Amino acid sequence: MDFLPIFMNIKGRLCLVVGGGEVAKRKAGVLLEAGARVRVVAPEIDPALSAMDGVTSIVQRFDATHLEGVMLVIAATNDRAVNAEVSRLAKESSIPVNVVDDPEHCSFIMPAIMDRSPLMVAFSSGGASPVLTRMMRGKLESMIPQNFSRLAAFAERYREKVKQYVTNPAKRRIFWENALDGVVAEKVLTGDESGAEAMLQAMLNDEDNIVRGEVYLVGAGPGDPDLLTFRALRLMQKADVVVYDNLVSKPIVDMTRRDAERIYVGKKRADHTLRQEEINALLVRLAHEGKRVLRLKGGDPFIFGRGGEEIETLAAQNIPFQVVPGITAASGVASYAGIPLTHRDYAQSCMFVTGHLKDGTMNLDWDALARPRQTVVVYMGLHGLDTLCAKLIEHGLPGATPIAIVQQGTTQNQRVVTGTLSDLPQKQEVAQLHAPTLIIVGGVVKLREKLQWFHPHLD
Ligand code: SAH
Repeated sequence: MDFLPIFMNIKGRLCLVVGGGEVAKRKAGVLLEAGARVRVVAPEIDPALSAMDGVTSIVQRFDATHLEGVMLVIAATNDRAVNAEVSRLAKESSIPVNVVDDPEHCSFIMPAIMDRSPLMVAFSSGGASPVLTRMMRGKLESMIPQNFSRLAAFAERYREKVKQYVTNPAKRRIFWENALDGVVAEKVLTGDESGAEAMLQAMLNDEDNIVRGEVYLVGAGPGDPDLLTFRALRLMQKADVVVYDNLVSKPIVDMTRRDAERIYVGKKRADHTLRQEEINALLVRLAHEGKRVLRLKGGDPFIFGRGGEEIETLAAQNIPFQVVPGITAASGVASYAGIPLTHRDYAQSCMFVTGHLKDGTMNLDWDALARPRQTVVVYMGLHGLDTLCAKLIEHGLPGATPIAIVQQGTTQNQRVVTGTLSDLPQKQEVAQLHAPTLIIVGGVVKLREKLQWFHPHLD
Protein backbone atom coordinates (compact mmCIF):
# COMPACT_ATOMS: atom_id res chain seq x y z
CA MET A 1 0.00 0.00 0.00
CA ASP A 2 1.63 3.24 -1.13
CA PHE A 3 -0.78 5.64 0.57
CA LEU A 4 -2.86 5.60 3.72
CA PRO A 5 -6.50 6.22 2.76
CA ILE A 6 -8.13 8.48 5.35
CA PHE A 7 -11.09 10.83 5.47
CA MET A 8 -10.20 14.07 7.21
CA ASN A 9 -12.50 16.25 9.23
CA ILE A 10 -11.74 19.84 8.19
CA LYS A 11 -14.98 21.46 9.34
CA GLY A 12 -14.30 25.02 10.50
CA ARG A 13 -10.54 24.60 10.02
CA LEU A 14 -8.29 26.84 7.96
CA CYS A 15 -6.89 25.46 4.69
CA LEU A 16 -4.61 27.21 2.23
CA VAL A 17 -4.92 27.24 -1.55
CA VAL A 18 -2.00 28.81 -3.39
CA GLY A 19 -3.08 29.97 -6.84
CA GLY A 20 -5.86 32.19 -8.17
CA GLY A 21 -7.09 30.51 -11.36
CA GLU A 22 -9.55 27.86 -12.50
CA VAL A 23 -7.84 24.91 -10.82
CA ALA A 24 -7.46 26.79 -7.54
CA LYS A 25 -11.16 27.64 -7.68
CA ARG A 26 -12.11 24.01 -8.12
CA LYS A 27 -9.92 22.89 -5.24
CA ALA A 28 -11.22 25.66 -2.97
CA GLY A 29 -14.72 24.50 -3.87
CA VAL A 30 -14.02 20.96 -2.65
CA LEU A 31 -12.53 22.22 0.61
CA LEU A 32 -15.53 24.49 1.19
CA GLU A 33 -17.90 21.63 0.51
CA ALA A 34 -16.19 19.71 3.30
CA GLY A 35 -16.81 22.66 5.63
CA ALA A 36 -13.34 24.29 5.74
CA ARG A 37 -12.44 27.98 5.78
CA VAL A 38 -10.15 28.70 2.86
CA ARG A 39 -7.28 31.17 2.58
CA VAL A 40 -6.37 31.87 -1.06
CA VAL A 41 -2.97 33.38 -1.85
CA ALA A 42 -1.85 34.58 -5.31
CA PRO A 43 -0.70 37.81 -6.98
CA GLU A 44 -3.87 37.68 -9.05
CA ILE A 45 -7.10 36.04 -7.97
CA ASP A 46 -10.15 35.26 -10.08
CA PRO A 47 -12.93 37.50 -8.63
CA ALA A 48 -15.34 34.53 -8.69
CA LEU A 49 -12.92 32.68 -6.41
CA SER A 50 -12.55 35.61 -3.98
CA ALA A 51 -16.31 35.92 -3.84
CA MET A 52 -16.87 32.33 -2.69
CA ASP A 53 -18.47 32.09 0.70
CA GLY A 54 -15.79 31.08 3.24
CA VAL A 55 -12.81 32.31 1.20
CA THR A 56 -10.33 34.94 2.46
CA SER A 57 -8.13 36.30 -0.33
CA ILE A 58 -4.58 37.55 0.08
CA VAL A 59 -3.38 39.21 -3.11
CA GLN A 60 0.37 38.62 -2.72
CA ARG A 61 3.08 36.24 -3.84
CA PHE A 62 3.17 33.21 -1.59
CA ASP A 63 5.58 33.24 1.38
CA ALA A 64 6.05 31.16 4.53
CA THR A 65 3.89 33.43 6.70
CA HIS A 66 0.81 32.31 4.77
CA LEU A 67 1.18 28.84 6.29
CA GLU A 68 0.46 30.09 9.76
CA GLY A 69 -2.50 28.40 11.43
CA VAL A 70 -3.16 26.23 8.39
CA MET A 71 -3.97 22.49 8.65
CA LEU A 72 -3.79 21.57 4.95
CA VAL A 73 -2.32 23.09 1.79
CA ILE A 74 -3.08 22.74 -1.90
CA ALA A 75 -0.67 24.26 -4.42
CA ALA A 76 -2.53 25.03 -7.62
CA THR A 77 -0.49 27.63 -9.46
CA ASN A 78 0.77 27.11 -13.01
CA ASP A 79 4.33 27.84 -11.87
CA ARG A 80 6.14 24.61 -11.01
CA ALA A 81 8.84 26.43 -9.03
CA VAL A 82 6.27 28.15 -6.81
CA ASN A 83 4.41 24.86 -6.32
CA ALA A 84 7.67 23.14 -5.32
CA GLU A 85 8.44 25.92 -2.84
CA VAL A 86 4.96 25.64 -1.28
CA SER A 87 5.49 21.90 -0.96
CA ARG A 88 8.94 22.27 0.64
CA LEU A 89 7.81 24.82 3.24
CA ALA A 90 4.62 22.92 4.09
CA LYS A 91 6.56 19.69 4.59
CA GLU A 92 9.05 21.55 6.80
CA SER A 93 6.17 22.57 9.05
CA SER A 94 4.58 19.07 8.83
CA ILE A 95 1.47 20.41 7.11
CA PRO A 96 -0.09 17.95 4.63
CA VAL A 97 0.34 19.30 1.11
CA ASN A 98 -1.06 18.44 -2.29
CA VAL A 99 0.44 19.82 -5.50
CA VAL A 100 -1.99 19.50 -8.36
CA ASP A 101 -0.75 17.09 -11.07
CA ASP A 102 2.65 16.67 -9.45
CA PRO A 103 2.62 13.54 -7.28
CA GLU A 104 6.30 13.88 -6.39
CA HIS A 105 5.71 17.03 -4.41
CA CYS A 106 2.58 15.73 -2.66
CA SER A 107 2.37 14.40 0.85
CA PHE A 108 -1.26 13.49 0.15
CA ILE A 109 -3.23 12.94 -3.04
CA MET A 110 -6.85 13.75 -3.78
CA PRO A 111 -8.83 10.67 -4.82
CA ALA A 112 -11.62 10.49 -7.36
CA ILE A 113 -14.84 10.23 -5.40
CA MET A 114 -18.25 8.67 -5.67
CA ASP A 115 -20.55 10.78 -3.54
CA ARG A 116 -23.58 9.13 -1.99
CA SER A 117 -23.30 11.35 1.10
CA PRO A 118 -23.12 10.44 3.89
CA LEU A 119 -21.71 7.42 2.09
CA MET A 120 -18.48 8.32 0.31
CA VAL A 121 -16.21 6.13 -1.79
CA ALA A 122 -12.71 7.33 -2.71
CA PHE A 123 -10.68 5.89 -5.61
CA SER A 124 -7.00 6.18 -6.27
CA SER A 125 -4.35 4.43 -8.30
CA GLY A 126 -1.65 6.35 -6.42
CA GLY A 127 -1.05 8.35 -9.60
CA ALA A 128 -0.36 5.19 -11.68
CA SER A 129 -3.37 5.50 -13.98
CA PRO A 130 -6.03 8.15 -13.56
CA VAL A 131 -7.92 6.63 -16.52
CA LEU A 132 -8.18 3.29 -14.78
CA THR A 133 -9.35 5.05 -11.63
CA ARG A 134 -12.09 6.77 -13.58
CA MET A 135 -13.14 3.51 -15.23
CA MET A 136 -13.40 1.84 -11.86
CA ARG A 137 -15.48 4.69 -10.57
CA GLY A 138 -17.73 4.48 -13.64
CA LYS A 139 -18.34 0.80 -12.94
CA LEU A 140 -19.31 1.39 -9.35
CA GLU A 141 -21.38 4.45 -10.19
CA SER A 142 -23.61 2.26 -12.33
CA MET A 143 -23.83 -0.49 -9.72
CA ILE A 144 -24.74 1.64 -6.74
CA PRO A 145 -28.03 3.45 -7.22
CA GLN A 146 -27.94 7.25 -7.06
CA ASN A 147 -30.44 7.25 -4.26
CA PHE A 148 -28.18 5.15 -2.06
CA SER A 149 -27.55 8.39 -0.16
CA ARG A 150 -31.12 8.20 1.00
CA LEU A 151 -30.48 4.78 2.46
CA ALA A 152 -27.43 5.96 4.36
CA ALA A 153 -29.30 9.01 5.64
CA PHE A 154 -32.18 6.77 6.69
CA ALA A 155 -29.82 4.45 8.60
CA GLU A 156 -28.21 7.43 10.29
CA ARG A 157 -31.56 8.76 11.39
CA TYR A 158 -32.57 5.50 13.05
CA ARG A 159 -29.21 4.51 14.45
CA GLU A 160 -29.87 5.65 18.02
CA LYS A 161 -33.39 4.35 18.11
CA VAL A 162 -32.37 0.90 16.95
CA LYS A 163 -29.60 0.92 19.54
CA GLN A 164 -32.19 1.45 22.27
CA TYR A 165 -34.46 -1.32 21.04
CA VAL A 166 -31.86 -3.91 20.10
CA THR A 167 -29.23 -3.73 22.81
CA ASN A 168 -27.25 -6.83 21.90
CA PRO A 169 -24.59 -5.69 19.36
CA ALA A 170 -24.52 -9.00 17.44
CA LYS A 171 -28.27 -8.99 17.08
CA ARG A 172 -28.16 -5.35 16.10
CA ARG A 173 -25.79 -6.13 13.27
CA ILE A 174 -28.15 -8.80 11.90
CA PHE A 175 -31.03 -6.41 12.34
CA TRP A 176 -29.33 -3.75 10.24
CA GLU A 177 -28.19 -6.29 7.63
CA ASN A 178 -31.76 -7.38 7.18
CA ALA A 179 -33.12 -3.87 7.13
CA LEU A 180 -30.54 -2.43 4.75
CA ASP A 181 -30.56 -5.38 2.43
CA GLY A 182 -34.24 -6.19 2.49
CA VAL A 183 -37.63 -4.74 2.08
CA VAL A 184 -36.93 -1.64 4.20
CA ALA A 185 -34.10 -0.70 1.88
CA GLU A 186 -36.22 -1.36 -1.17
CA LYS A 187 -38.85 0.99 0.17
CA VAL A 188 -36.31 3.73 0.90
CA LEU A 189 -34.76 3.34 -2.54
CA THR A 190 -38.11 3.65 -4.28
CA GLY A 191 -38.86 6.79 -2.27
CA ASP A 192 -41.44 5.35 0.10
CA GLU A 193 -39.83 6.55 3.33
CA SER A 194 -42.97 6.38 5.41
CA GLY A 195 -43.51 2.78 4.31
CA ALA A 196 -39.90 2.04 5.22
CA GLU A 197 -40.34 3.67 8.62
CA ALA A 198 -43.43 1.61 9.35
CA MET A 199 -41.59 -1.54 8.29
CA LEU A 200 -38.60 -0.74 10.47
CA GLN A 201 -40.85 -0.06 13.42
CA ALA A 202 -42.63 -3.36 12.85
CA MET A 203 -39.26 -5.10 12.82
CA LEU A 204 -38.28 -3.36 16.06
CA ASN A 205 -41.53 -4.36 17.74
CA ASP A 206 -40.94 -7.95 16.77
CA GLU A 207 -37.27 -8.29 17.49
CA ASP A 208 -37.34 -12.09 17.75
CA ASN A 209 -38.73 -12.37 14.29
CA ILE A 210 -36.62 -9.87 12.42
CA VAL A 211 -35.88 -12.20 9.58
CA ARG A 212 -38.72 -11.62 7.17
CA GLY A 213 -39.12 -13.26 3.83
CA GLU A 214 -40.09 -11.40 0.70
CA VAL A 215 -40.63 -12.10 -2.98
CA TYR A 216 -39.31 -10.25 -6.01
CA LEU A 217 -41.30 -10.93 -9.14
CA VAL A 218 -38.77 -9.99 -11.77
CA GLY A 219 -39.00 -9.77 -15.54
CA ALA A 220 -35.81 -11.16 -17.09
CA GLY A 221 -36.44 -9.90 -20.61
CA PRO A 222 -36.53 -12.01 -23.77
CA GLY A 223 -33.14 -13.72 -23.46
CA ASP A 224 -30.14 -11.49 -24.05
CA PRO A 225 -28.71 -10.71 -20.57
CA ASP A 226 -27.86 -7.19 -21.75
CA LEU A 227 -31.57 -6.46 -21.75
CA LEU A 228 -31.98 -6.90 -17.98
CA THR A 229 -32.78 -3.82 -15.93
CA PHE A 230 -30.42 -2.57 -13.21
CA ARG A 231 -33.03 -3.34 -10.60
CA ALA A 232 -33.47 -6.89 -11.86
CA LEU A 233 -29.73 -7.43 -11.63
CA ARG A 234 -29.53 -5.97 -8.14
CA LEU A 235 -32.29 -8.25 -6.84
CA MET A 236 -30.83 -11.24 -8.69
CA GLN A 237 -27.64 -10.80 -6.75
CA LYS A 238 -29.42 -10.44 -3.47
CA ALA A 239 -31.98 -13.24 -3.43
CA ASP A 240 -31.38 -16.40 -1.37
CA VAL A 241 -33.45 -18.59 -3.65
CA VAL A 242 -34.31 -18.35 -7.34
CA VAL A 243 -37.48 -19.81 -8.81
CA TYR A 244 -37.31 -19.78 -12.61
CA ASP A 245 -38.90 -21.43 -15.64
CA ASN A 246 -37.76 -22.50 -19.07
CA LEU A 247 -38.15 -19.08 -20.70
CA VAL A 248 -35.31 -17.65 -18.64
CA SER A 249 -32.07 -18.15 -20.55
CA LYS A 250 -29.18 -19.94 -18.89
CA PRO A 251 -26.76 -17.00 -19.01
CA ILE A 252 -29.32 -15.03 -17.02
CA VAL A 253 -29.86 -17.73 -14.42
CA ASP A 254 -26.06 -17.85 -14.10
CA MET A 255 -26.05 -14.18 -13.12
CA THR A 256 -28.00 -14.81 -9.93
CA ARG A 257 -26.12 -14.96 -6.65
CA ARG A 258 -23.59 -17.76 -6.76
CA ASP A 259 -24.69 -19.41 -3.53
CA ALA A 260 -28.42 -18.98 -4.10
CA GLU A 261 -30.60 -22.08 -4.22
CA ARG A 262 -32.10 -22.53 -7.70
CA ILE A 263 -35.47 -24.14 -8.29
CA TYR A 264 -36.65 -24.95 -11.81
CA VAL A 265 -40.41 -24.93 -12.19
CA GLY A 266 -40.65 -25.75 -15.87
CA LYS A 267 -43.72 -24.55 -17.74
CA LYS A 268 -43.55 -25.45 -21.37
CA ARG A 269 -46.78 -25.71 -23.30
CA ALA A 270 -48.67 -28.72 -21.98
CA ASP A 271 -45.64 -29.86 -19.97
CA HIS A 272 -46.05 -28.09 -16.69
CA THR A 273 -43.37 -29.32 -14.34
CA LEU A 274 -45.21 -27.59 -11.50
CA ARG A 275 -48.75 -26.43 -11.84
CA GLN A 276 -49.41 -22.73 -11.30
CA GLU A 277 -51.06 -23.32 -7.92
CA GLU A 278 -48.04 -25.29 -6.82
CA ILE A 279 -45.73 -22.47 -7.85
CA ASN A 280 -47.87 -19.98 -5.91
CA ALA A 281 -47.71 -22.21 -2.85
CA LEU A 282 -43.95 -22.70 -3.24
CA LEU A 283 -43.35 -18.93 -3.21
CA VAL A 284 -45.42 -18.57 -0.05
CA ARG A 285 -43.61 -21.42 1.70
CA LEU A 286 -40.14 -20.06 0.87
CA ALA A 287 -41.05 -16.56 2.02
CA HIS A 288 -42.44 -17.95 5.26
CA GLU A 289 -39.07 -19.58 5.84
CA GLY A 290 -37.63 -16.04 5.86
CA LYS A 291 -36.00 -16.29 2.43
CA ARG A 292 -35.61 -13.56 -0.11
CA VAL A 293 -37.20 -15.23 -3.08
CA LEU A 294 -36.53 -14.22 -6.67
CA ARG A 295 -39.33 -15.28 -8.98
CA LEU A 296 -37.63 -14.85 -12.30
CA LYS A 297 -39.86 -14.81 -15.36
CA GLY A 298 -39.18 -14.39 -19.06
CA GLY A 299 -40.03 -11.03 -20.61
CA ASP A 300 -42.33 -8.92 -18.48
CA PRO A 301 -44.12 -10.60 -15.58
CA PHE A 302 -47.40 -8.81 -16.31
CA ILE A 303 -47.58 -9.74 -19.99
CA PHE A 304 -48.84 -13.28 -20.48
CA GLY A 305 -46.76 -14.21 -17.46
CA ARG A 306 -49.43 -15.00 -14.89
CA GLY A 307 -47.52 -12.62 -12.62
CA GLY A 308 -50.80 -11.22 -11.40
CA GLU A 309 -51.90 -14.60 -10.08
CA GLU A 310 -48.65 -15.17 -8.27
CA ILE A 311 -48.72 -11.92 -6.36
CA GLU A 312 -52.40 -12.27 -5.60
CA THR A 313 -51.51 -15.25 -3.43
CA LEU A 314 -48.65 -13.34 -1.80
CA ALA A 315 -50.83 -10.32 -1.08
CA ALA A 316 -53.47 -12.55 0.48
CA GLN A 317 -50.81 -13.95 2.83
CA ASN A 318 -49.35 -10.52 3.68
CA ILE A 319 -45.97 -11.39 2.24
CA PRO A 320 -44.01 -8.35 1.11
CA PHE A 321 -43.28 -8.37 -2.62
CA GLN A 322 -42.29 -6.16 -5.47
CA VAL A 323 -42.67 -6.42 -9.22
CA VAL A 324 -39.89 -5.48 -11.62
CA PRO A 325 -40.89 -4.95 -15.24
CA GLY A 326 -38.88 -6.53 -18.00
CA ILE A 327 -38.60 -6.07 -21.74
CA THR A 328 -41.42 -8.13 -23.14
CA ALA A 329 -40.77 -10.55 -26.00
CA ALA A 330 -42.68 -8.41 -28.50
CA SER A 331 -40.49 -5.43 -27.88
CA GLY A 332 -37.13 -7.22 -27.61
CA VAL A 333 -37.70 -9.69 -30.41
CA ALA A 334 -39.08 -7.10 -32.81
CA SER A 335 -36.11 -4.79 -32.44
CA TYR A 336 -33.55 -7.59 -32.79
CA ALA A 337 -35.36 -8.83 -35.89
CA GLY A 338 -35.50 -5.35 -37.44
CA ILE A 339 -39.29 -5.10 -37.36
CA PRO A 340 -40.68 -1.88 -35.85
CA LEU A 341 -44.01 -2.64 -34.19
CA THR A 342 -45.53 0.63 -35.35
CA HIS A 343 -44.67 2.79 -38.35
CA ARG A 344 -46.40 5.82 -39.78
CA ASP A 345 -46.79 4.16 -43.18
CA TYR A 346 -47.88 0.69 -42.03
CA ALA A 347 -49.36 0.46 -38.56
CA GLN A 348 -50.91 2.91 -36.15
CA SER A 349 -51.64 0.37 -33.48
CA CYS A 350 -50.24 -2.83 -32.15
CA MET A 351 -52.00 -5.68 -30.42
CA PHE A 352 -50.53 -8.40 -28.24
CA VAL A 353 -52.54 -11.61 -28.14
CA THR A 354 -51.93 -15.12 -26.94
CA GLY A 355 -52.50 -18.04 -29.25
CA HIS A 356 -52.67 -20.50 -26.39
CA LEU A 357 -55.99 -20.30 -24.69
CA LYS A 358 -57.04 -21.81 -21.40
CA ASP A 359 -59.17 -24.48 -23.02
CA GLY A 360 -56.60 -25.30 -25.73
CA THR A 361 -58.60 -23.73 -28.58
CA MET A 362 -57.65 -20.60 -30.46
CA ASN A 363 -60.85 -18.73 -30.09
CA LEU A 364 -59.76 -15.14 -30.75
CA ASP A 365 -61.70 -12.04 -31.80
CA TRP A 366 -60.74 -12.48 -35.45
CA ASP A 367 -62.56 -9.40 -36.71
CA ALA A 368 -60.55 -7.20 -34.36
CA LEU A 369 -57.29 -8.88 -35.41
CA ALA A 370 -57.98 -8.68 -39.14
CA ARG A 371 -58.13 -4.90 -39.28
CA PRO A 372 -55.83 -3.05 -41.67
CA ARG A 373 -52.97 -0.78 -40.53
CA GLN A 374 -52.23 -2.58 -37.33
CA THR A 375 -49.60 -4.99 -36.11
CA VAL A 376 -50.61 -8.18 -34.35
CA VAL A 377 -48.09 -9.94 -32.15
CA VAL A 378 -49.00 -13.47 -31.18
CA TYR A 379 -47.41 -15.02 -28.11
CA MET A 380 -47.47 -18.82 -27.82
CA GLY A 381 -48.92 -19.04 -31.31
CA LEU A 382 -46.69 -21.51 -33.17
CA HIS A 383 -48.93 -24.45 -32.46
CA GLY A 384 -51.88 -22.68 -34.05
CA LEU A 385 -50.05 -21.10 -36.98
CA ASP A 386 -52.23 -22.73 -39.65
CA THR A 387 -55.44 -21.68 -37.93
CA LEU A 388 -54.09 -18.16 -37.37
CA CYS A 389 -53.26 -17.60 -41.04
CA ALA A 390 -56.48 -19.16 -42.33
CA LYS A 391 -58.71 -17.24 -39.91
CA LEU A 392 -57.08 -13.88 -40.64
CA ILE A 393 -57.63 -14.39 -44.37
CA GLU A 394 -61.17 -15.59 -43.77
CA HIS A 395 -61.89 -12.39 -41.79
CA GLY A 396 -60.62 -10.06 -44.48
CA LEU A 397 -56.84 -9.68 -44.46
CA PRO A 398 -55.23 -10.17 -47.91
CA GLY A 399 -53.32 -13.43 -48.35
CA ALA A 400 -50.28 -11.31 -49.23
CA THR A 401 -50.14 -9.73 -45.74
CA PRO A 402 -46.57 -10.06 -44.44
CA ILE A 403 -45.97 -12.27 -41.41
CA ALA A 404 -42.86 -13.38 -39.52
CA ILE A 405 -41.99 -16.08 -37.04
CA VAL A 406 -39.07 -15.35 -34.74
CA GLN A 407 -37.60 -18.22 -32.79
CA GLN A 408 -35.68 -17.48 -29.55
CA GLY A 409 -35.35 -13.81 -30.40
CA THR A 410 -32.43 -11.79 -28.95
CA THR A 411 -30.46 -14.98 -28.21
CA GLN A 412 -27.70 -16.67 -30.18
CA ASN A 413 -30.32 -19.07 -31.52
CA GLN A 414 -32.50 -16.38 -33.03
CA ARG A 415 -34.02 -17.50 -36.32
CA VAL A 416 -36.46 -15.56 -38.42
CA VAL A 417 -38.72 -16.81 -41.18
CA THR A 418 -40.83 -14.33 -43.11
CA GLY A 419 -43.57 -14.86 -45.65
CA THR A 420 -47.23 -14.08 -46.20
CA LEU A 421 -50.40 -15.34 -44.60
CA SER A 422 -50.78 -17.64 -47.62
CA ASP A 423 -47.34 -19.20 -47.70
CA LEU A 424 -45.92 -19.06 -44.17
CA PRO A 425 -47.44 -22.35 -42.95
CA GLN A 426 -45.59 -24.26 -45.72
CA LYS A 427 -42.40 -22.32 -45.09
CA GLN A 428 -42.56 -23.30 -41.43
CA GLU A 429 -43.03 -26.96 -42.46
CA VAL A 430 -39.61 -26.70 -44.08
CA ALA A 431 -37.91 -24.43 -41.54
CA GLN A 432 -39.18 -26.29 -38.47
CA LEU A 433 -38.71 -23.42 -36.02
CA HIS A 434 -39.43 -24.45 -32.47
CA ALA A 435 -40.74 -22.69 -29.36
CA PRO A 436 -40.40 -20.14 -27.96
CA THR A 437 -41.44 -18.23 -31.03
CA LEU A 438 -43.22 -15.00 -31.56
CA ILE A 439 -45.43 -14.34 -34.57
CA ILE A 440 -45.70 -10.84 -36.00
CA VAL A 441 -48.39 -10.00 -38.55
CA GLY A 442 -48.67 -6.79 -40.56
CA GLY A 443 -47.09 -4.46 -43.10
CA VAL A 444 -44.23 -3.61 -40.71
CA VAL A 445 -42.72 -7.06 -41.29
CA LYS A 446 -41.63 -5.92 -44.77
CA LEU A 447 -39.36 -3.29 -43.19
CA ARG A 448 -37.06 -6.06 -42.01
CA GLU A 449 -35.51 -6.15 -45.49
CA LYS A 450 -34.18 -2.64 -44.85
CA LEU A 451 -33.77 -2.56 -41.09
CA GLN A 452 -32.16 -5.88 -40.25
CA TRP A 453 -29.04 -5.24 -38.22
CA PHE A 454 -26.06 -7.12 -37.00
CA HIS A 455 -25.71 -8.03 -33.31
CA PRO A 456 -22.01 -8.11 -32.54
CA HIS A 457 -22.44 -9.54 -29.05
CA LEU A 458 -24.70 -12.37 -30.24
CA ASP A 459 -22.38 -13.69 -32.95
N1 SAH B 1 -43.98 -12.76 -20.03
C1 SAH B 1 -43.39 -13.07 -21.30
C2 SAH B 1 -44.27 -13.93 -22.15
C3 SAH B 1 -44.57 -15.27 -21.58
S1 SAH B 1 -45.56 -16.25 -22.63
C4 SAH B 1 -43.01 -11.78 -22.01
O1 SAH B 1 -43.40 -10.68 -21.59
O2 SAH B 1 -42.30 -11.86 -22.99
C5 SAH B 1 -44.36 -17.19 -23.49
C6 SAH B 1 -44.29 -16.79 -24.92
O3 SAH B 1 -43.54 -15.59 -25.07
C7 SAH B 1 -43.56 -17.78 -25.81
O4 SAH B 1 -44.38 -18.85 -26.16
C8 SAH B 1 -43.23 -16.92 -26.99
O5 SAH B 1 -44.36 -16.71 -27.78
C9 SAH B 1 -42.90 -15.60 -26.34
N2 SAH B 1 -41.45 -15.43 -26.13
C10 SAH B 1 -40.82 -15.19 -24.99
N3 SAH B 1 -39.48 -15.04 -25.19
C11 SAH B 1 -39.28 -15.17 -26.51
C12 SAH B 1 -38.14 -15.10 -27.35
N4 SAH B 1 -36.92 -14.87 -26.86
N5 SAH B 1 -38.30 -15.26 -28.67
C13 SAH B 1 -39.52 -15.48 -29.18
N6 SAH B 1 -40.63 -15.55 -28.44
C14 SAH B 1 -40.53 -15.40 -27.13
